[in-house]
Amino acid sequence: MANKINVLKGTKDILPQDIEMWHFVEENALKTFTSFGVKEIRTPIIESTDLFQRGVGETTDIVNKEMYTFEKSERSITLRPENTAGVVRSYIENGMHRLPAPVKLWYKGPMFRYERPQAGRQRQFHQVGVEMFGVSQPAADAEIILMAENFLKSIGLEDLDVEINSLGCPKCRAEFKEKLKNVIRPHLNELCEDCKGRFEKNPLRLLDCKVPQCQEIFSKTEIQNVITSDFLCDECREHYNQLKKYLDDLNVKYSENKLLVRGLDYYTRTVFEIKSNNLGSQNAVCGGGRYDNLVEELGGEPTPAIGFAMGMERLISLLKEKETSKLDGYIVSNNTTEALKLAQQLRLQGLNIEIDLANKKFTKQLEKASKVAKLALILGEDEIAQNKVSIKNLETGEQVTVDRNICAEKIK
Ligand code: ATP
Ligand code: MG
Repeated sequence: MANKINVLKGTKDILPQDIEMWHFVEENALKTFTSFGVKEIRTPIIESTDLFQRGVGETTDIVNKEMYTFEKSERSITLRPENTAGVVRSYIENGMHRLPAPVKLWYKGPMFRYERPQAGRQRQFHQVGVEMFGVSQPAADAEIILMAENFLKSIGLEDLDVEINSLGCPKCRAEFKEKLKNVIRPHLNELCEDCKGRFEKNPLRLLDCKVPQCQEIFSKTEIQNVITSDFLCDECREHYNQLKKYLDDLNVKYSENKLLVRGLDYYTRTVFEIKSNNLGSQNAVCGGGRYDNLVEELGGEPTPAIGFAMGMERLISLLKEKETSKLDGYIVSNNTTEALKLAQQLRLQGLNIEIDLANKKFTKQLEKASKVAKLALILGEDEIAQNKVSIKNLETGEQVTVDRNICAEKIK
């Protein structure tokens, strides 16, 4: 026998026994987002590497170590590690700023990050997300958080914590960064290598370092005083307060987390995460925030925007197993031609039907029917002679014989 070839590390097949969970999640995404007037967009999986270098940011883990990048015809191409940059590119390229604001888009699909595979972390995984363009007011932030919450509720997830924070605008954040660097600088030598690297380029990222020794340093009083200080300028504070008021008015439960900074460079003002207590250390199911400068940085007109992305594998791991749904009917007959004909008739009438294709014995066919279908549709010699079908309910054992032309109605 030839050598077997296995699936790549960090990637997985989604098998038929699990696909209904995916359909369930995808259908609810479509339903929920449509209820907010959001339209689906599908962008390519491959994009110019530049798009992510500029759109996700040179100082992020994603761009520094997680991208799948390759050369083709002297162009550098990258498998998308996330979809916001691609959606922004498409928004600009297709002149969507000319559409009435807000432009609301949602997506779903595979993303690729070269990470260490572990529970809740794959190299090919799936995200579903929403982006809203053209509104700077905090009502957009509230609506985006509501959308995420409505969707999670629609698939039956309730036990979730919403955490929010404001990172301010480039102006007030710059001052905050300086203060933070000043109090951390004396401890620079004691920080982990990653933090040393981030210190100059992206000091906010230090705060979500998971290394205990770093966390211990950040818990020092003089550093905590800076972290917990209110550094927002008047406009940013007003925006944040109004968002919290909307969430209160809508009874959305949330907590404020000053350490929530998010991995990506582009966020401004509002950031949020939704976490599940039923997941292990990779417990974030949703991450999002406002990115008011990204459209302009990628060559578009200045356009405020906000969005979120959810990890679909993590969502699905929280759902209860779904039973695979059964066929409407399985045709049991020794006459293959008649079985093929009836199956074809019923499928065109909207039913899900299978037949035996391998000349199996009548009793074997009945056994198969009771495994895969709700009804056995029996075409014996008598039925064929009279142009009838016997419909047997495989749960109750009840059986009726009807004319073939009303068979579909009877089944329904
Ligand atoms: P994390 O802190 O878990 O690395 P992140 O900040 O890299 O998250 P985002 O880029 O915000 O994640 O992606 C949004 C969501 O996508 C995450 O909350 C998570 O549910 C999911 N996700 C991210 N990376 C992976 C991965 N490698 N495998 C599976 N799901 C992932
Ligand atoms: Mg990550």
